[in-house]
Amino acid sequence: MTTTANDTSSRPPAPATAAVWSGVDKGFSVEALPLPELRPGELLVRTELATICGSDLHTINGDRPTPLPTVLGHEAIGHVVSTAGDVTGSDGELLVAGDRVTWTIGTSCGACRRCRRGTPQKCLTVRKYGHEAIDGHWKLNGGFGTHVHLLAGTGVVKLAPGLPAAVAVPANCATATVVCAARRVDLDSDDAVVVIGCGMLGLSAVAYARDRGCTTVIACDVDPARRALAERFGATVVVEPAGLAEATKQHGADVVFELSGNSRAVQSAFEVADLAGRIALVGSVSPAPEISFEPSAFVKNLTTVVGSHNYRLDDLAEAVDFLQRTRAQQLFADLIPAPYPLDQVVEAVALANAADAPRIAISFP
Ligand SMILES: [Zn+2]
Ligand SMILES: [Zn+2]
Repeated sequence: MTTTANDTSSRPPAPATAAVWSGVDKGFSVEALPLPELRPGELLVRTELATICGSDLHTINGDRPTPLPTVLGHEAIGHVVSTAGDVTGSDGELLVAGDRVTWTIGTSCGACRRCRRGTPQKCLTVRKYGHEAIDGHWKLNGGFGTHVHLLAGTGVVKLAPGLPAAVAVPANCATATVVCAARRVDLDSDDAVVVIGCGMLGLSAVAYARDRGCTTVIACDVDPARRALAERFGATVVVEPAGLAEATKQHGADVVFELSGNSRAVQSAFEVADLAGRIALVGSVSPAPEISFEPSAFVKNLTTVVGSHNYRLDDLAEAVDFLQRTRAQQLFADLIPAPYPLDQVVEAVALANAADAPRIAISFP
């Protein structure tokens, strides 16, 4: 066999490129990183599209400590490059090179007490994409890179080739988080639903409630532009916070999704829930001013309050199915403006911080 300049077989594989985050002082550096030596059960994925989530911004803005250096980003989709041994997707089928996939935000061992009790997102040995320090084996550990190294224990869900990337990309954060919360409050088509906070989570919740057959969906947000968007996503009533009590009196509030994380909004969720109401607290992911409540009203009203953070693999599979079938597909696609290339990650983050666009995306060479 002769080797020519175009013969790639004898060359070492091109390295990956990732935006390495070294903290608020040092910021990002776009670096070449070696491709991993996969261990059994691991996959290498070539990233198709990633988006900057609010929790990435919390880290970048110094509101949340993270081990350093790291590759941020957990909302991403990509194509399988290779697997080490047999690795199956959520459908039980073997994953092969070329499969288009999304994956859980973290790993789960399947054996610890938390995994066995149905909360694998809180596995005692969880490792989360976009949240951990780079180490000798695991360098490509976030979505802001050309490749992502998926560890064993990561749940992987296949994506249909025709599903637009901009629709699929929030599946493994915002969409699956909403699906999990809906499962945990037993969302039913008969429920009058209240959605507080109409960012990416809220718009997903509005569309998901409609998809599940709910005919009353009250969306509440301080921002008129977000309220208008919520209406387009299927909200049947839109109100500013001052109007929420009146709207729920009129239309009901069986299930309340609190997605804003604002303490006053959390308080209002407690105030508006109907008899036997179920409240999902989702938005409160960082410490906020305390609220108080008078407990006998909860007792007498048979109220259920559920905290919900991240999700399980079955929630992610349902999120992907939902994005595939939703009538709001084009609306979801329209939420994401043209992506920034990876080497403009700093500009992309600045825009994500400044603009009120629900998501800014990063694309890869
Ligand atoms: Zn996220
Ligand atoms: Zn576990």
